[in-house]
Amino acid sequence: MIAVRELTKLYGHTPALDRLSFEVRPGVVTGFLGPNGAGKSTTLRILLGLHRPTSGEALIGGRPYRRIRRPLHEVGAVLDADAAHPGRTARHHLDCLARTNGIGRARVAAVLAEVGLAAVADKRVGGFSLGMRQRLGIAGALLGDPGVIVLDEPVNGLDAAGIRWIRSTLRSLAAQGRTVLLSSHLMSEVALTADRVLILGRGRLLDEISVADLPVRGATLEDVYLRLTGEAAEFRAVPR
Ligand code: ADP
Repeated sequence: MIAVRELTKLYGHTPALDRLSFEVRPGVVTGFLGPNGAGKSTTLRILLGLHRPTSGEALIGGRPYRRIRRPLHEVGAVLDADAAHPGRTARHHLDCLARTNGIGRARVAAVLAEVGLAAVADKRVGGFSLGMRQRLGIAGALLGDPGVIVLDEPVNGLDAAGIRWIRSTLRSLAAQGRTVLLSSHLMSEVALTADRVLILGRGRLLDEISVADLPVRGATLEDVYLRLTGEAAEFRAVPR
């Protein structure tokens, strides 16, 4: 379970996050949706202990990331598909991660099979397609069998088969009772993958929507998203 409370992040005097609060529950896929610059990556980076908030808190299982003793066992994250060194093989990359986290080699073989990379496990990551690198990122996130999975823009640049694979993988991880949070600026993707959507604009939570409720409210997610974020978008005149 993820809890973000009154989270504020200032870069200089500009707020990237402005007293942002939300919760992410287990058992469903939650989409974190907002236009570019809305503050999604900043939130995820604070949640994962990579940035410090100006004020407020972001908790995983009731604790900030830096207080989690065995982080890989509690939260698996993919922030960047290119986190693995291109000169390493997929197996070597995961072995290194596993060793530094006290995880056995059998688990490396298991996650390679789970993400469909067993046949190319001993090939160098430099020769992998974006879809294969995304799968490797997810394998790394699953190594410690964590209850919380966080992905930043996982479908960016993926082909249709890759997108379908990510979608079904995230749904099955949620069905196993895990907490799954994925960020995206693509409303169509989020509508197909997530059960619940948090809509962010200018560092604030604009709305929280259950995808199943949308037809009842007579609107598509796209309608709701554009209505909400249209007001939050900034248009600047380009000087001539
Ligand atoms: P998103 O992930 O939704 O696209 P970000 O979290 O990357 O949004 O950015 C939120 C805001 O914070 C943007 O206005 C961005 O320009 C600004 N920002 C992000 N990182 C930095 C940084 N390191 N220094 C200054 N401003 C930043």
